[in-house]
Order: sequence, then C-alpha cells, then structure tokens
Amino acid sequence: MRLGFNCSHCGSRANNLSLIRKSPTVWEGVYRCNGNGCGHLFVVEISAIRALRAASVARRGVSIPLARDLLLAHRARRDEIERKARAERAKQYPWRSQ
Ligand SMILES: [Zn+2]
Repeated sequence: MRLGFNCSHCGSRANNLSLIRKSPTVWEGVYRCNGNGCGHLFVVEISAIRALRAASVARRGVSIPLARDLLLAHRARRDEIERKARAERAKQYPWRSQ
C-alpha cells in the first residue's frame, strides 16, 4: 500500500519510507519531504474511522462505527442540547412560552 502525502510545511510531495500495520484498523508511515531544502521527516497515521456499509464478514475485535450510527448519535445529542436550551429559556422567560 503506497499513499501519497504532501509536506505540511512546504506543500511538496513526500516520499514514503516505511509503512507498518499497527492494528487491524491502523497503519503508520514515515514520510520524507522532497521539497528543496525542507527536509521535513514526519509520521502519518492512517486509520479506518467509520464504515459506510457494514462488512459481511466480521473480524473479532474490530469495531468501526457505522456512519449512520454516528449521525443518529449526533442528532440525539443536538436534540438534547436544544431541549435543555428551550427548558432554560422557559425558566428565565416564562411569559414567552405562554
Ligand atoms: Zn517540506
């Protein structure tokens, strides 16, 4: 697996020097910037952060959240924050809710 990265400082292309698998969902690579005189040497982490569709063959110990679940959790959190804000406003300004 070869992934291209650009240097965060000068924007030049960086060469991958090594890539190792840290876990079933995480890879770590060392990159060296090709920019003239830059010399930046850095580590990149690549990880599976969410699934767009569940795997048909599940691997024991691998848990990648479904994007749909994250969306539902985000909406539930947003709704809870809005509900608390409405309740607080109703306490502060009871005449407005009548
Ligand atoms: Zn650079």
